[in-house]
Amino acid sequence: MSTGAPIPSPRDIDTSQRPFVLIWEVTQACELACDHCRADAKPSRHPDELTTAEGKRLLDSAAEFGDGQLVVLSGGDPMKRDDLVELVRYGTKQGLRMTLTPSGTEALTPDNIAALVDAGLQRMALSVDAPATAHDRFRGEAGSFERTREAAEAARDAGIPLQTNTTVCATTVETLPAVREFVAEVGAVLWSVFFLVPVGRGQILDPIQPERAESVLEWLQDVSEAAPFGVKTTEAPHYRRVALQRNGSATDAPDADAIGRRGGIIAGDGFAFVSHTGELFPSGFLPKSAGNVTDSDLVSLYQDSTLFESLRDRDRLKGKCGACEFRHVCGGSRSRAYAVTGDPLASDPLCAYRPSGYDGPLPDRQAAADR
Ligand code: SF4
Repeated sequence: MSTGAPIPSPRDIDTSQRPFVLIWEVTQACELACDHCRADAKPSRHPDELTTAEGKRLLDSAAEFGDGQLVVLSGGDPMKRDDLVELVRYGTKQGLRMTLTPSGTEALTPDNIAALVDAGLQRMALSVDAPATAHDRFRGEAGSFERTREAAEAARDAGIPLQTNTTVCATTVETLPAVREFVAEVGAVLWSVFFLVPVGRGQILDPIQPERAESVLEWLQDVSEAAPFGVKTTEAPHYRRVALQRNGSATDAPDADAIGRRGGIIAGDGFAFVSHTGELFPSGFLPKSAGNVTDSDLVSLYQDSTLFESLRDRDRLKGKCGACEFRHVCGGSRSRAYAVTGDPLASDPLCAYRPSGYDGPLPDRQAAADR
Protein backbone atom coordinates (compact mmCIF):
# COMPACT_ATOMS: atom_id res chain seq x y z
CA MET A 1 0.00 0.00 0.00
CA SER A 2 1.01 3.60 -0.46
CA THR A 3 2.87 4.98 2.55
CA GLY A 4 2.21 8.57 1.62
CA ALA A 5 5.99 9.19 1.41
CA PRO A 6 7.15 11.74 -1.17
CA ILE A 7 7.93 10.48 -4.66
CA PRO A 8 11.73 10.29 -4.99
CA SER A 9 13.57 12.32 -7.59
CA PRO A 10 14.90 10.21 -10.49
CA ARG A 11 18.46 11.06 -9.48
CA ASP A 12 17.79 9.59 -6.02
CA ILE A 13 16.55 6.26 -7.34
CA ASP A 14 19.00 3.37 -7.18
CA THR A 15 18.30 1.32 -10.33
CA SER A 16 19.80 -1.77 -8.71
CA GLN A 17 16.84 -1.65 -6.31
CA ARG A 18 13.92 -0.52 -8.47
CA PRO A 19 13.14 0.28 -12.08
CA PHE A 20 12.24 3.76 -13.26
CA VAL A 21 9.81 2.14 -15.63
CA LEU A 22 7.93 -1.11 -15.13
CA ILE A 23 5.99 -2.13 -18.22
CA TRP A 24 3.20 -4.67 -17.96
CA GLU A 25 2.03 -6.16 -21.25
CA VAL A 26 -1.56 -6.68 -20.08
CA THR A 27 -2.48 -8.53 -23.29
CA GLN A 28 -1.09 -9.39 -26.70
CA ALA A 29 -4.52 -8.94 -28.29
CA CYS A 30 -4.79 -6.09 -30.80
CA GLU A 31 -6.89 -5.27 -33.85
CA LEU A 32 -3.94 -3.73 -35.66
CA ALA A 33 -1.17 -5.68 -37.39
CA CYS A 34 1.72 -3.20 -37.30
CA ASP A 35 4.78 -4.01 -39.38
CA HIS A 36 7.16 -3.54 -36.44
CA CYS A 37 5.11 -5.22 -33.68
CA ARG A 38 7.37 -6.61 -30.96
CA ALA A 39 4.52 -8.65 -29.50
CA ASP A 40 3.51 -10.15 -32.86
CA ALA A 41 0.03 -9.24 -31.62
CA LYS A 42 -3.01 -11.44 -32.27
CA PRO A 43 -6.72 -10.56 -32.60
CA SER A 44 -7.72 -12.55 -29.47
CA ARG A 45 -6.56 -12.57 -25.88
CA HIS A 46 -4.22 -15.39 -24.85
CA PRO A 47 -5.91 -17.91 -22.48
CA ASP A 48 -2.89 -17.78 -20.12
CA GLU A 49 -2.57 -14.01 -19.81
CA LEU A 50 -2.63 -12.72 -16.21
CA THR A 51 -6.13 -12.62 -14.71
CA THR A 52 -7.53 -9.59 -12.92
CA ALA A 53 -6.58 -11.10 -9.54
CA GLU A 54 -3.06 -11.97 -10.74
CA GLY A 55 -2.73 -8.49 -12.20
CA LYS A 56 -3.69 -6.90 -8.89
CA ARG A 57 -1.12 -9.05 -7.09
CA LEU A 58 1.45 -7.85 -9.63
CA LEU A 59 0.50 -4.23 -8.88
CA ASP A 60 0.81 -4.95 -5.13
CA SER A 61 4.33 -6.23 -5.80
CA ALA A 62 5.16 -3.22 -7.98
CA ALA A 63 4.16 -0.92 -5.11
CA GLU A 64 6.82 -2.63 -2.95
CA PHE A 65 9.48 -0.95 -5.10
CA GLY A 66 8.43 2.25 -3.36
CA ASP A 67 5.97 5.10 -3.69
CA GLY A 68 5.38 6.59 -7.10
CA GLN A 69 6.61 3.59 -9.07
CA LEU A 70 5.90 4.26 -12.73
CA VAL A 71 3.85 1.48 -14.37
CA VAL A 72 3.09 1.44 -18.10
CA LEU A 73 0.14 -0.73 -19.17
CA SER A 74 1.08 -1.92 -22.63
CA GLY A 75 0.11 -4.52 -25.20
CA GLY A 76 -0.98 -5.58 -27.78
CA ASP A 77 -3.74 -3.11 -27.14
CA PRO A 78 -4.54 -2.74 -23.42
CA MET A 79 -7.99 -1.46 -24.40
CA LYS A 80 -8.78 -5.10 -25.24
CA ARG A 81 -9.02 -5.86 -21.52
CA ASP A 82 -12.42 -5.18 -20.01
CA ASP A 83 -10.86 -4.78 -16.54
CA LEU A 84 -8.54 -1.96 -17.61
CA VAL A 85 -10.28 0.83 -15.66
CA GLU A 86 -10.35 -1.44 -12.58
CA LEU A 87 -6.61 -2.10 -12.89
CA VAL A 88 -5.77 1.60 -13.30
CA ARG A 89 -7.90 2.46 -10.26
CA TYR A 90 -6.35 -0.34 -8.20
CA GLY A 91 -2.77 0.59 -9.15
CA THR A 92 -3.42 4.24 -8.34
CA LYS A 93 -4.72 3.27 -4.89
CA GLN A 94 -1.46 1.37 -4.27
CA GLY A 95 0.52 4.59 -4.88
CA LEU A 96 1.63 3.70 -8.43
CA ARG A 97 1.80 6.19 -11.29
CA MET A 98 -0.34 4.43 -13.88
CA THR A 99 0.18 5.19 -17.58
CA LEU A 100 -1.07 3.58 -20.79
CA THR A 101 0.05 2.86 -24.36
CA PRO A 102 -3.15 2.01 -26.28
CA SER A 103 -3.38 1.32 -30.01
CA GLY A 104 -5.04 3.84 -32.32
CA THR A 105 -8.41 2.09 -32.67
CA GLU A 106 -12.10 2.96 -32.31
CA ALA A 107 -11.94 1.84 -28.66
CA LEU A 108 -10.24 5.16 -27.80
CA THR A 109 -13.46 7.12 -27.42
CA PRO A 110 -13.60 10.31 -25.35
CA ASP A 111 -15.81 8.46 -22.83
CA ASN A 112 -13.33 5.58 -22.45
CA ILE A 113 -10.43 8.01 -22.05
CA ALA A 114 -12.36 10.07 -19.49
CA ALA A 115 -13.11 6.89 -17.48
CA LEU A 116 -9.42 6.00 -17.39
CA VAL A 117 -8.47 9.50 -16.30
CA ASP A 118 -11.15 9.37 -13.59
CA ALA A 119 -9.58 6.10 -12.38
CA GLY A 120 -6.22 7.87 -11.97
CA LEU A 121 -4.44 7.47 -15.29
CA GLN A 122 -1.50 9.92 -15.36
CA ARG A 123 -0.31 9.76 -18.96
CA MET A 124 -1.23 8.26 -22.30
CA ALA A 125 1.23 7.43 -25.07
CA LEU A 126 0.04 7.17 -28.67
CA SER A 127 2.09 5.90 -31.60
CA VAL A 128 2.58 7.94 -34.75
CA ASP A 129 5.24 6.58 -37.08
CA ALA A 130 4.70 8.68 -40.19
CA PRO A 131 2.17 11.14 -41.57
CA ALA A 132 -1.36 10.01 -42.56
CA THR A 133 -1.47 7.23 -45.16
CA ALA A 134 2.14 6.14 -44.55
CA HIS A 135 1.25 5.65 -40.86
CA ASP A 136 -1.84 3.65 -41.86
CA ARG A 137 0.26 1.40 -44.13
CA PHE A 138 2.81 0.88 -41.35
CA ARG A 139 0.04 0.07 -38.86
CA GLY A 140 -1.84 -2.15 -41.32
CA GLU A 141 -5.15 -0.32 -40.84
CA ALA A 142 -6.76 2.44 -42.93
CA GLY A 143 -7.91 5.36 -40.76
CA SER A 144 -5.53 4.58 -37.89
CA PHE A 145 -3.76 7.96 -38.20
CA GLU A 146 -7.01 9.93 -37.97
CA ARG A 147 -8.22 7.84 -35.02
CA THR A 148 -4.91 8.51 -33.26
CA ARG A 149 -5.29 12.25 -33.87
CA GLU A 150 -8.83 12.14 -32.43
CA ALA A 151 -7.60 10.19 -29.40
CA ALA A 152 -4.83 12.74 -28.87
CA GLU A 153 -7.43 15.51 -28.86
CA ALA A 154 -9.63 13.54 -26.45
CA ALA A 155 -6.67 13.02 -24.11
CA ARG A 156 -5.95 16.74 -24.21
CA ASP A 157 -9.62 17.54 -23.49
CA ALA A 158 -9.52 15.12 -20.54
CA GLY A 159 -6.54 17.05 -19.17
CA ILE A 160 -4.06 14.19 -19.36
CA PRO A 161 -0.45 14.62 -20.55
CA LEU A 162 0.17 13.01 -23.92
CA GLN A 163 3.28 11.21 -25.13
CA THR A 164 3.91 10.36 -28.77
CA ASN A 165 5.92 7.26 -29.70
CA THR A 166 7.59 6.87 -33.10
CA THR A 167 9.43 3.89 -34.58
CA VAL A 168 12.54 4.72 -36.59
CA CYS A 169 13.49 2.31 -39.37
CA ALA A 170 14.44 2.61 -43.03
CA THR A 171 10.73 3.00 -43.96
CA THR A 172 10.00 5.88 -41.59
CA VAL A 173 13.25 7.80 -41.08
CA GLU A 174 12.64 10.34 -43.86
CA THR A 175 9.30 11.39 -42.37
CA LEU A 176 10.62 12.24 -38.90
CA PRO A 177 10.43 16.03 -39.52
CA ALA A 178 6.73 15.69 -40.42
CA VAL A 179 6.10 13.61 -37.30
CA ARG A 180 7.85 16.27 -35.21
CA GLU A 181 5.26 18.77 -36.52
CA PHE A 182 2.45 16.39 -35.53
CA VAL A 183 3.88 16.00 -32.00
CA ALA A 184 3.88 19.78 -31.57
CA GLU A 185 0.43 20.17 -33.14
CA VAL A 186 -1.27 17.74 -30.72
CA GLY A 187 0.46 19.33 -27.72
CA ALA A 188 2.39 16.25 -26.59
CA VAL A 189 4.69 16.73 -23.59
CA LEU A 190 7.18 14.08 -24.71
CA TRP A 191 8.31 12.52 -28.01
CA SER A 192 9.72 9.04 -27.49
CA VAL A 193 11.70 7.94 -30.51
CA PHE A 194 12.18 4.19 -30.71
CA PHE A 195 15.03 2.78 -32.79
CA LEU A 196 13.90 -0.53 -34.28
CA VAL A 197 15.04 -3.74 -32.63
CA PRO A 198 14.57 -6.77 -34.91
CA VAL A 199 12.20 -8.88 -32.78
CA GLY A 200 8.65 -10.08 -33.51
CA ARG A 201 7.26 -8.70 -36.77
CA GLY A 202 10.01 -6.04 -36.65
CA GLN A 203 12.34 -8.65 -38.16
CA ILE A 204 10.84 -8.02 -41.60
CA LEU A 205 11.74 -4.29 -41.48
CA ASP A 206 15.11 -2.77 -42.37
CA PRO A 207 16.84 -0.87 -39.57
CA ILE A 208 18.74 2.30 -40.40
CA GLN A 209 22.54 2.12 -40.59
CA PRO A 210 24.73 3.32 -37.65
CA GLU A 211 25.85 6.47 -39.49
CA ARG A 212 22.24 7.41 -40.22
CA ALA A 213 21.35 6.73 -36.58
CA GLU A 214 24.14 9.10 -35.56
CA SER A 215 22.74 11.91 -37.73
CA VAL A 216 19.20 11.26 -36.43
CA LEU A 217 20.47 11.47 -32.83
CA GLU A 218 22.22 14.76 -33.64
CA TRP A 219 19.01 16.05 -35.23
CA LEU A 220 16.98 14.97 -32.18
CA GLN A 221 19.34 17.00 -29.99
CA ASP A 222 18.51 20.04 -32.13
CA VAL A 223 14.80 19.27 -31.86
CA SER A 224 14.98 18.89 -28.08
CA GLU A 225 16.65 22.29 -27.73
CA ALA A 226 13.99 24.08 -29.76
CA ALA A 227 10.75 22.13 -29.28
CA PRO A 228 8.05 22.80 -26.67
CA PHE A 229 8.09 19.07 -25.79
CA GLY A 230 10.74 16.77 -24.33
CA VAL A 231 12.58 14.21 -26.45
CA LYS A 232 13.76 10.78 -25.33
CA THR A 233 15.04 7.78 -27.21
CA THR A 234 14.16 4.13 -26.66
CA GLU A 235 16.73 1.43 -27.47
CA ALA A 236 19.26 4.13 -28.46
CA PRO A 237 20.95 5.16 -25.19
CA HIS A 238 23.89 6.53 -27.21
CA TYR A 239 21.67 9.63 -27.43
CA ARG A 240 23.34 10.49 -24.10
CA ARG A 241 26.80 9.89 -25.54
CA VAL A 242 25.96 12.22 -28.43
CA ALA A 243 24.77 14.87 -25.94
CA LEU A 244 27.93 14.56 -23.87
CA GLN A 245 30.15 14.82 -26.95
CA ARG A 246 28.24 17.90 -28.03
CA ASN A 247 28.07 19.66 -24.67
CA GLY A 248 31.10 18.27 -22.92
CA SER A 249 29.31 17.99 -19.60
CA ALA A 250 27.43 15.13 -17.98
CA THR A 251 24.98 17.63 -16.52
CA ASP A 252 23.90 18.62 -20.03
CA ALA A 253 22.91 15.11 -21.10
CA PRO A 254 19.19 14.53 -21.77
CA ASP A 255 17.68 13.93 -18.38
CA ALA A 256 14.40 13.75 -16.55
CA ASP A 257 11.19 14.26 -18.49
CA ALA A 258 7.97 15.77 -17.21
CA ILE A 259 6.94 12.61 -15.36
CA GLY A 260 10.30 12.37 -13.64
CA ARG A 261 11.91 9.69 -15.83
CA ARG A 262 15.63 9.83 -16.46
CA GLY A 263 17.12 9.29 -19.90
CA GLY A 264 19.71 6.61 -20.47
CA ILE A 265 18.07 3.72 -18.65
CA ILE A 266 18.57 0.38 -20.35
CA ALA A 267 17.04 -3.08 -20.23
CA GLY A 268 17.35 -4.53 -16.74
CA ASP A 269 18.90 -1.33 -15.35
CA GLY A 270 16.02 1.00 -14.61
CA PHE A 271 13.73 -0.84 -16.98
CA ALA A 272 11.73 -4.06 -16.58
CA PHE A 273 8.92 -5.72 -18.51
CA VAL A 274 6.28 -8.22 -17.38
CA SER A 275 4.89 -10.26 -20.27
CA HIS A 276 1.20 -11.10 -20.75
CA THR A 277 1.83 -14.48 -19.06
CA GLY A 278 3.88 -13.01 -16.19
CA GLU A 279 7.47 -13.59 -17.35
CA LEU A 280 9.85 -10.86 -16.15
CA PHE A 281 12.07 -9.67 -19.01
CA PRO A 282 14.69 -6.88 -18.91
CA SER A 283 12.66 -5.27 -21.72
CA GLY A 284 9.95 -6.23 -24.18
CA PHE A 285 12.66 -6.38 -26.84
CA LEU A 286 14.87 -8.70 -24.78
CA PRO A 287 12.63 -11.73 -24.23
CA LYS A 288 14.89 -13.59 -21.80
CA SER A 289 13.07 -14.45 -18.59
CA ALA A 290 14.40 -13.98 -15.05
CA GLY A 291 11.34 -15.86 -13.71
CA ASN A 292 7.55 -15.64 -13.55
CA VAL A 293 5.81 -13.15 -11.25
CA THR A 294 2.99 -15.61 -10.53
CA ASP A 295 5.34 -17.90 -8.59
CA SER A 296 8.33 -15.65 -7.78
CA ASP A 297 8.71 -12.30 -6.05
CA LEU A 298 8.88 -9.43 -8.57
CA VAL A 299 11.16 -7.28 -6.41
CA SER A 300 13.60 -10.16 -5.76
CA LEU A 301 13.71 -11.07 -9.45
CA TYR A 302 14.52 -7.49 -10.37
CA GLN A 303 17.09 -6.95 -7.62
CA ASP A 304 18.79 -10.33 -7.37
CA SER A 305 18.39 -12.42 -10.52
CA THR A 306 21.63 -13.25 -12.32
CA LEU A 307 20.24 -11.89 -15.57
CA PHE A 308 19.30 -8.46 -14.21
CA GLU A 309 22.46 -8.19 -12.11
CA SER A 310 24.64 -8.88 -15.16
CA LEU A 311 22.85 -6.22 -17.23
CA ARG A 312 23.45 -3.63 -14.50
CA ASP A 313 27.19 -4.27 -14.36
CA ARG A 314 28.54 -2.07 -17.16
CA ASP A 315 32.02 -3.57 -16.60
CA ARG A 316 30.72 -6.90 -17.90
CA LEU A 317 29.85 -5.48 -21.30
CA LYS A 318 31.80 -6.99 -24.18
CA GLY A 319 33.42 -5.71 -27.36
CA LYS A 320 33.54 -2.00 -27.96
CA CYS A 321 30.70 -1.25 -25.48
CA GLY A 322 32.88 -2.89 -22.79
CA ALA A 323 35.83 -0.70 -23.80
CA CYS A 324 33.80 2.48 -24.15
CA GLU A 325 34.37 5.44 -21.86
CA PHE A 326 30.64 6.24 -22.18
CA ARG A 327 29.41 2.82 -21.01
CA HIS A 328 28.19 4.09 -17.63
CA VAL A 329 26.01 6.82 -19.15
CA CYS A 330 25.07 4.82 -22.24
CA GLY A 331 25.67 1.06 -22.15
CA GLY A 332 24.15 0.47 -25.59
CA SER A 333 20.89 -1.28 -26.36
CA ARG A 334 21.11 -4.64 -24.63
CA SER A 335 17.94 -5.67 -26.49
CA ARG A 336 19.49 -5.06 -29.92
CA ALA A 337 22.71 -6.83 -28.88
CA TYR A 338 20.62 -9.84 -27.85
CA ALA A 339 18.42 -9.77 -30.97
CA VAL A 340 21.41 -9.60 -33.32
CA THR A 341 23.99 -11.76 -31.52
CA GLY A 342 22.09 -13.82 -28.92
CA ASP A 343 24.30 -12.26 -26.19
CA PRO A 344 22.71 -9.41 -24.19
CA LEU A 345 26.17 -8.21 -23.11
CA ALA A 346 27.56 -7.84 -26.65
CA SER A 347 28.10 -4.49 -28.42
CA ASP A 348 25.13 -2.53 -29.74
CA PRO A 349 25.42 -2.83 -33.55
CA LEU A 350 23.55 0.45 -34.12
CA CYS A 351 26.23 2.65 -32.53
CA ALA A 352 28.75 4.28 -34.87
CA TYR A 353 31.17 5.31 -32.11
CA ARG A 354 34.62 3.74 -31.94
CA PRO A 355 36.04 4.13 -28.41
CA SER A 356 39.47 5.77 -28.30
CA GLY A 357 42.24 3.20 -28.35
CA TYR A 358 39.86 0.34 -29.12
CA ASP A 359 41.09 -2.00 -31.86
CA GLY A 360 39.02 -5.09 -31.09
CA PRO A 361 36.21 -6.56 -33.21
CA LEU A 362 33.35 -4.31 -34.30
CA PRO A 363 29.70 -5.30 -34.66
CA ASP A 364 29.02 -6.65 -38.17
CA ARG A 365 27.14 -3.65 -39.53
CA GLN A 366 29.79 -1.14 -38.52
CA ALA A 367 32.60 -3.38 -39.78
CA ALA A 368 30.85 -3.55 -43.17
CA ALA A 369 30.43 0.26 -43.26
CA ASP A 370 34.15 0.76 -42.47
CA ARG A 371 35.26 -1.43 -45.37
S1 SF4 B 1 30.15 1.93 -27.96
FE1 SF4 B 1 28.44 1.11 -26.71
S2 SF4 B 1 28.61 2.17 -24.72
FE2 SF4 B 1 29.85 3.34 -26.22
S3 SF4 B 1 28.47 4.93 -26.99
FE3 SF4 B 1 28.32 3.17 -28.38
S4 SF4 B 1 26.58 1.97 -27.63
FE4 SF4 B 1 27.21 3.38 -26.00
